[in-house]
Amino acid sequence: MKLKKEEEIEQLTEFSDITLDNLSKQELTVFFTSIGEKKFRAEQVYKWLYSKYSDDFESMTDLSKTLREKLKAHTKLTKLEVAQITRSKIDGSMKILIKLSDNNYIESVILKDSERLTGCISSQIGCRMGCKFCNTAKIGLIRNLTSGEIVRQIQLINKISLDEFGKKVSNLVFMGMGEPLDNMDNLIKALDIILDENGLGYSHRKITVSTSGVSNKIINLFELKNAPNIAISLNATTDETRNRIMPVNNKYPIKTLLTDIKKLPLQKRKRITFEYVMLKGINDSIDDAKRLIKLLKGIPSKVNLISYNITKDSEFQKISYEHILRFQKVLTDAGICALIRKSLGEDIDGACGQLYAKYLKQGGCDVN
Ligand code: SAH
Ligand code: SF4
Repeated sequence: MKLKKEEEIEQLTEFSDITLDNLSKQELTVFFTSIGEKKFRAEQVYKWLYSKYSDDFESMTDLSKTLREKLKAHTKLTKLEVAQITRSKIDGSMKILIKLSDNNYIESVILKDSERLTGCISSQIGCRMGCKFCNTAKIGLIRNLTSGEIVRQIQLINKISLDEFGKKVSNLVFMGMGEPLDNMDNLIKALDIILDENGLGYSHRKITVSTSGVSNKIINLFELKNAPNIAISLNATTDETRNRIMPVNNKYPIKTLLTDIKKLPLQKRKRITFEYVMLKGINDSIDDAKRLIKLLKGIPSKVNLISYNITKDSEFQKISYEHILRFQKVLTDAGICALIRKSLGEDIDGACGQLYAKYLKQGGCDVN
């Protein structure tokens, strides 16, 4: 008996430093069988980690004390810490600055639209796509988030949401910091847990992944059994303008992007959402609206017109609400579903990467 225990410990030691909540269900099974445990242990731990939101081994009361101690001694769990919460006085939305275990920071937002709560989730620390209107771009890419950090981020905002609003967020949008498709492996791993009924239990219909248009990766999302909704941040109607404001367009020009989108097995998805941040004098002309109509021809689509959230030292300007309405009318007259996205949490810099950048400027934290 003694020998078996020692062997087990040795095998576990091989796994030392393993972060259990970075493992998929399959990987957890491999892990538990390799340390001499029955397969069902993996299922128990999986439920504790994800559906029961447990972040310590002591709470896993249906595991033996010995196993709990072994896991505690030889494995790790992802730890996230709330660094700052900012509440919108206008609509009750909340912005949460989260400190990761390596002292990097990400932000998540709980968007409150009357009774509907949506979690705006980060996929990377910073972003390397370089969009000129976006604060996250200024940080550059520090690193990808692990799948554990993505899942724990959602659990963390759900805990805050439960405390504040008495319920979890019903919808998730990957529109926080980072380009989700630039962190595809961890995104897919996290989605698997987010969508699993023994994981976080979200329906794929309630999840939207937003991309700047990493054209060749979009199809990978559609290959998933339960593909989430896709939003494309189009933001321009000519390559000249898009190249200028979104460097990703140099690699995947508008025609390539839209041709790839037309090839998607859309019977699974009713519509593709196109995000369009309105920038004064850049992409807001009536000619732009007319070009947009032509570009979207043949694509079951919905357009979200987004008011530009002015960033510090910005080279761009906001347009008036009346101007957005005129742009919208051209689209709707042509039969395109175009919505003006309400600017939620405006007073807390609710758009992409803004709180984080402020925090960096204050010099208040040790971000490298
Ligand atoms: N990287 C992904 C998801 C994160 S950005 C993407 O680009 O789609 C989420 C959305 O925020 C994108 O539609 C982007 O165009 C928008 N955005 C970025 N900066 C903004 C700003 N200053 N004001 C309004 N929207 C902004
Ligand atoms: Fe990255 Fe999206 Fe910001 Fe572009 S808009 S820099 S892709 S986070």
